[in-house]
Amino acid sequence: MEQVIIFDTTLRDGEQAAGGTLNIQEKLGIARQLEKLGVDVIEAGFPISSPGDFEAVGLIAKEIRTPIICALARAHPDDIEFSPMDASRTDPEYIYQILEAVINAGATTVNIPDTVGYAIPDEFGNLIEGIFQNVPNINRAVISVHCHNDLGLAVANSLESVKRGARQVECTINGIGERAGNASLEEIVMAIKTRKDFFNLTTNVDTKQIYKTSRLVSELTGFSVQPNKAIVGANAFSHESGIHQDGVIKMPITYEIMDPRTVGIPASSLVLGKLSGRHAFRERLAELGYSLSEEDFDRAFSTFKELADKKKEITDRDIESLIAEEQRTMSEVYHIDRIQVSCGDRGIPTAAVRLIAPDGQVLADAALGTGPVDAVCKAINRLVGVPNVLTEFTVKSVTEGIDAIGEVLIRIESEGITYTGRGADTDIIVASAKAYMNALNRLLTAKKVAG
Ligand SMILES: [Zn+2]
Repeated sequence: MEQVIIFDTTLRDGEQAAGGTLNIQEKLGIARQLEKLGVDVIEAGFPISSPGDFEAVGLIAKEIRTPIICALARAHPDDIEFSPMDASRTDPEYIYQILEAVINAGATTVNIPDTVGYAIPDEFGNLIEGIFQNVPNINRAVISVHCHNDLGLAVANSLESVKRGARQVECTINGIGERAGNASLEEIVMAIKTRKDFFNLTTNVDTKQIYKTSRLVSELTGFSVQPNKAIVGANAFSHESGIHQDGVIKMPITYEIMDPRTVGIPASSLVLGKLSGRHAFRERLAELGYSLSEEDFDRAFSTFKELADKKKEITDRDIESLIAEEQRTMSEVYHIDRIQVSCGDRGIPTAAVRLIAPDGQVLADAALGTGPVDAVCKAINRLVGVPNVLTEFTVKSVTEGIDAIGEVLIRIESEGITYTGRGADTDIIVASAKAYMNALNRLLTAKKVAG
């Protein structure tokens, strides 16, 4: 079977949409996971755009060995490469001439982008076919496509192009990207796999890594996945209708065109609790794809035990949230030591906060606010003293139930740059404080890197 090259641009087009909020270690973390996922090419950034991007692309190229690492460049002597922007709205004759010239100049891949997401599948497919018919040296290059989702057609346009002979697709995890996003990698890969009877094509992607990659990208960019999102949404494999449930129990294929395990959604819904020991916790972590050092495992296990005291049933999502929280505290500048809040309909919301500074000094202060979250953020601000504006605050529960872990996402802006912070705790005020601290720590780290 012929192979379609999967070109992942999560770290370039996706990151661009996230407002450049990923730090260099997070970019490297995503690149490592993309390597496990088995993508063929990673577009690691746009080096000329900023010194930070330049450094990140360099580091990823040094550390990641299996996929090809590439980067966006302008058709400018300082850069290299070539991509005709807005190809779907360009005169085809002109594209043919340009492509012939760039292939003669040595291009081995020519990318045809639907930059503004304007194309309709049949029309875009005709453009690809036209290129095969009218560019005499096209057999010396691979046709790649890069589709945007402004009309919700990015995946459809990509698949139509593949049907007509394109052999590389540029896409992103969870379909993140500029405006309405890019073609979603998981949808393209699973369409090719599930309907190989139709496409007769294959990819190098290890589909079992899809779910984990999706969670990681969502966690680090702060873009949550809509519940009804194909392949990776929380409801993608859940059946509500009684007739469907009955059918799936009797024979999954009745209503399930894909086995959730093929995209790496853990098969067992085994629930851990207070009595679960180190062994059970270690096994579960391994099944979820985590490999922690002994030291990190000990920390995670003690957090797990603390959580089990507060929450009866600990699900996979709780464990993911717990590990993510652990990872966030590993690279802290300031660490939250204690928080105490008083609030209510009659009281004045008041927060007292104790932080550990980078030099080990213990700092404490208190503040009043319009509510407990506001009071906590103000108290932290008094101690850290970096001007910033809170632009987004979202709280959601990880699982059902009154004792669920609350996950908070906060975005702050400082000198025109946005920083995302996340925090998780069974107490949402504590989760909010952790998220705010996380955002501030990222701001401080970025400032330190920038010099
Ligand atoms: Zn794009």
